[in-house]
Amino acid sequence: MKLAFAAIHPKAGRIDATLPDLGCGLTWPAVHKTRPRVALRCPECGHGVHAKVSARNLRYFAHDPGRPADCAWLNESLEHHLLKLELATAVRAAADWHAELEVRSPDGTWRADVLASSHDGTRRIAWEAQLSPITIDDIEERTERYGAAGVGVCWVSPAAQAPWMGHVPSIRVREPAQGRPWTVVEGPAAFDFDHGTWVTIDTLELTAFVRWVSRGQPVVHEVRPRYHRVWFGADDLYRRRRLVWTTSAHIDTETRHEAMRQRQDARKRQREEQQHQAEQQAAAEAEARRQDQQRQREIRAAEEAARRDEQLRKWAADAEQARQRRETEEKQRQAQLRAAEQQRLRQEQHERLAADRWWGELSAAQIHELREAVAEPLWKTHAARPEFDTQGPTPEHAYGIAIRIRQRLHGVLRPNPASLHRLPPAVWVYVRNAREAQQLAATGTIDPARIVHFNLPDHEQMSLI
Ligand SMILES: [Zn+2]
Repeated sequence: MKLAFAAIHPKAGRIDATLPDLGCGLTWPAVHKTRPRVALRCPECGHGVHAKVSARNLRYFAHDPGRPADCAWLNESLEHHLLKLELATAVRAAADWHAELEVRSPDGTWRADVLASSHDGTRRIAWEAQLSPITIDDIEERTERYGAAGVGVCWVSPAAQAPWMGHVPSIRVREPAQGRPWTVVEGPAAFDFDHGTWVTIDTLELTAFVRWVSRGQPVVHEVRPRYHRVWFGADDLYRRRRLVWTTSAHIDTETRHEAMRQRQDARKRQREEQQHQAEQQAAAEAEARRQDQQRQREIRAAEEAARRDEQLRKWAADAEQARQRRETEEKQRQAQLRAAEQQRLRQEQHERLAADRWWGELSAAQIHELREAVAEPLWKTHAARPEFDTQGPTPEHAYGIAIRIRQRLHGVLRPNPASLHRLPPAVWVYVRNAREAQQLAATGTIDPARIVHFNLPDHEQMSLI
């Protein structure tokens, strides 16, 4: 289907096949099947066109044979044309607005499917039926061109997923079905304060939406970054959208919600900051405690070391004192030993001198006489001859002469009274007479019962001389 709704009339100028008076006071029969033909031209490419009526009674203009292949109006589908017609009808239904189809700007920077104009000419809105694929960059650039010309724009698509939807002022529409007219199912949105999200409105009739936009009730709103995820109730999911159609009341609601969220964020940051400060303070206190404990430990360790050193010094001093004391005691002991030894030597010398005097009292004959006196009775009682120690008087026998019978010590002959403490125990002691016995007993160191004497005279018998 190669068709267009607008054409240039040689006298009336631009004419519109969708309007009863063609937009300029003419009638359809004045251009359709006239003789001679009216020289109509395509507003886009300038090629000749002629008026036609389709089998479904749709009025339009078709290019004459030999048309240029690149005319913009030629490569559009019937669906596209029907949507344009629907948009134009909706605009015309709004009070005080009129719509022109397939309008090209004087300088060629834009070409609107449907250009809606307010009656007083102060506002213009381009309604674009965008069915063919277009990149986001391209559609944003075309939107900017409209903006630069002071023309509003709304891009309209029936496609389920147009990638540019929500990047530029746009709506998604649904064809009439099950008794419902053309319906806007995406684009308008309301802000739900409780859920803090934009919610798509998908129940507006296209006619009503176009009327409201014409009245300036909904405006294109750039959603705050926090709310880019828009809720689609019919699909039960979120989609990211940058622009929505909405009213100032909903924008205010979004603003209030944003303010609340910023307060919450501020409180949260404040809490986090306070918590951070509290943690830092706690960490600083813990560090101070740790350092204090460390100092205490060091002080205790130093005290302990000093105490140990003091103890060691004390031990060393005690040990030195003990060593000096032992040394002194040892010297004293040595001195005492030396004194005792000297005493002993003096005693021995004294005893020895005494023993010399003791025995010096007797002549050899007297000694012989005494030995005989001792031996005689012993011979009788023991049936053995007593042996007199050939060493003579010895200190261990109290400076007397040991008497043995059959190798066993029996007694001591004439021990020195000064040395009786040296006398072996339980031996007999033999002396010359009672005077000597008395002399020994007088020392008190010997049992008188063990002393035997023989009444020998103190002086040699004259008879023996
Ligand atoms: Zn053309």
